[in-house]
Amino acid sequence: MAVSCSKCSGDAVVYLPYGNENLCKKHFVDSFEKRVRRTAREFRMIGKGDRVGVAVSGGKDSVSMLYLLKDICDSMRVELVALSVDEGIEGYREGTLKVAKENCRKLGVEHRILSFKREIGITVDEIAKKKDRMRTCSYCGVFRRWILNKTAREMGLTKLAVGHNLDDAAQTVLMNFLRNEPFRLARFGPSGGIIEHEFFVDRIKPLIRIPERESAVYSIIRGMNIKFGRCPYAHEAFRNEVRVFLNEVEEGFPGTKFRVFNSFMSVRDVLREKFSSNETPIKCKECGELSSNEVCMRCKMLRDLRGEKGKCL
Ligand code: SF4
Ligand code: ZN
Repeated sequence: MAVSCSKCSGDAVVYLPYGNENLCKKHFVDSFEKRVRRTAREFRMIGKGDRVGVAVSGGKDSVSMLYLLKDICDSMRVELVALSVDEGIEGYREGTLKVAKENCRKLGVEHRILSFKREIGITVDEIAKKKDRMRTCSYCGVFRRWILNKTAREMGLTKLAVGHNLDDAAQTVLMNFLRNEPFRLARFGPSGGIIEHEFFVDRIKPLIRIPERESAVYSIIRGMNIKFGRCPYAHEAFRNEVRVFLNEVEEGFPGTKFRVFNSFMSVRDVLREKFSSNETPIKCKECGELSSNEVCMRCKMLRDLRGEKGKCL
């Protein structure tokens, strides 16, 4: 027998265990959109005069965010531009980029594709073949952030929206504890970071309170064109182990991911105060982007890749 929606007599399509609520399509979509808008307002993510960039990979989170930001930006008369990064992952990225492109075209949002090969000189597939000490995702994350920040700034964007959901946020909090990296944790959050500088484009995360499962349900209910699937290197990442652990705990103790994130938010100000740096960031002597050291992480990693195997770059 069909279960009824907790808010009306319609058939429920989703159960939210942390709230012990069953919701029909309409009430789930309403609740989802309301929560994203509330998060965007609470952390003042978008304001008049902003020019917003949205990072769109073609997955459920980024495409759901693209649709929601299109509505929010249109209602505020704020410009929205989509950016996708082609890391060079054969058999995976081509499909997601196609989906990103189609969704942007459908919504009439300008779309730019940035490539690792063009901007950095090496693809993720090439990095993976080098069998370096570090996991592929460590390089990929640093290079992607570097490309997105540089491009967003050069385009005059004032905000860069990324599709991090609640699962990503809870994983990040736990990972930083497990690695004893309070400085990094202090920089984390729904928007901005510790360092404010004209060279850094503020990152915003409107989906930060949305469980991953719900953004998948939302994209399906809204009939969005989405590419499901995982990057072939995802299993290598430390994050993956934390993800599996958190999913298991969530299964037995619904609401765990919210509690991890909320615990972090309740001590965030203290962390920021304790670990904020008075040092003014300097420009990397190799690429000119901001760095806390003479040479930024992107350039150090490139040196490392060059040094270990010679002349791939
Ligand atoms: Fe890059 Fe790792 Fe994400 Fe794949 S899973 S896109 S390698 S960060
Ligand atoms: Zn550099």
